[in-house]
Amino acid sequence: MNPERKITVNASKTYDIHIGENILDNAGPLIRKAAGGDVAVIITDDIVSELYQKRLAHTLTQSGYHVVSHVITNGESSKSPENLIVILNYLAEKKLSRTDIVVALGGGVVGDLAGFAAACYMRGVSFVQVPTTLLAAIDSSVGGKTAVNLSAGKNLAGAFYQPDTVICDVSLLSTLPDDVFISGCAEVIKYGVLADNELFEFIKSPISNNLTHVITRCVEIKRDIVGKDERENGVRKLLNYGHTIGHAIEQLSGYRIPHGYAVAAGMAIEAGMAVKMGICPTGCYNKIKEMLRLYNLPATKNYNAKELAEACLSDKKRSGDKITMALPIRVGECVLKDIPVSDLQGLIQHGMEV
Ligand code: NAD
Repeated sequence: MNPERKITVNASKTYDIHIGENILDNAGPLIRKAAGGDVAVIITDDIVSELYQKRLAHTLTQSGYHVVSHVITNGESSKSPENLIVILNYLAEKKLSRTDIVVALGGGVVGDLAGFAAACYMRGVSFVQVPTTLLAAIDSSVGGKTAVNLSAGKNLAGAFYQPDTVICDVSLLSTLPDDVFISGCAEVIKYGVLADNELFEFIKSPISNNLTHVITRCVEIKRDIVGKDERENGVRKLLNYGHTIGHAIEQLSGYRIPHGYAVAAGMAIEAGMAVKMGICPTGCYNKIKEMLRLYNLPATKNYNAKELAEACLSDKKRSGDKITMALPIRVGECVLKDIPVSDLQGLIQHGMEV
């Protein structure tokens, strides 16, 4: 068994991320120490609830919390303004006070929604993340981005709101369906491309047996970036590699294409754009596509450049007549480039033709 790891994030709030096997049943004392409070509201979804809610509720109760739970329907469509209001009303009904806590138990959908509710309710109550997907473990539970989707685009309403602690029990990922696990692998590949060639090489071997190591490395990379630029004014934008086109694909599919699969196709197309711009060697592009193939992740999607460009324009990454994109220059390093909106469609078209 791998030893438990603790990673400390220094942002507007300083907090610990605990990563280890079978740590869920001992989460209560860690949560009490980090967040305090009397009432703990677990927000989870209908699938995760069946698997892990009782265990989390038990350890919280043992640690002196009065525990109540609200269960949402699993899936991206639950990350909606309507559900945000339902949760806020639930917190009010349960008379949650300013010193009580919201605990997100689930994947990125639960974490983003519950986090935004915690940020809004009484202008902010304590918040704990217990990620249960690979994507949530390495990405969405860390760094404080919370959001809901609007019909005009993904994550268009949200807040930066850091958790008080993150409890990442790697063993919980054993029940993930293959496609959800693979979706998270896209974000692991992203970390390799943007910051760590060694990680990229390491994940050529199956990662299931080395999850604690891989998750820890990804979280370290995110911690370093968030520590420098919490509110995404600069370097944090590097984490968006694959996401400009990825979000466009998600939106065009009506959110039926899972996040990681859309990001995978986004990474391939954006790497192709970088090749066309003359900043990325073809060899790097080929390595990325090869890695996506290894994980059975798609490198293309059936949307044309015009559709993708139009969808990109409703993305938050647009400012005025340009859109900032993170593009690879080699495996292990991405750079930020401002693309004029008028060039976007042509560049995407070229990126898809590499
Ligand atoms: P998800 O939360 O929809 O979970 C995927 C599916 O897996 C769901 O059906 C869920 O019920 C199920 N599931 C979760 N844990 C399970 C487990 N242990 N065993 C069995 N089934 C389980 O999807 P996701 O990929 O975790 O998250 C995607 C969301 O994360 C998107 O909305 C995306 O925008 C967001 N995101 C946010 C950030 C951020 O920084 N806040 C970063 C990346 C992605």
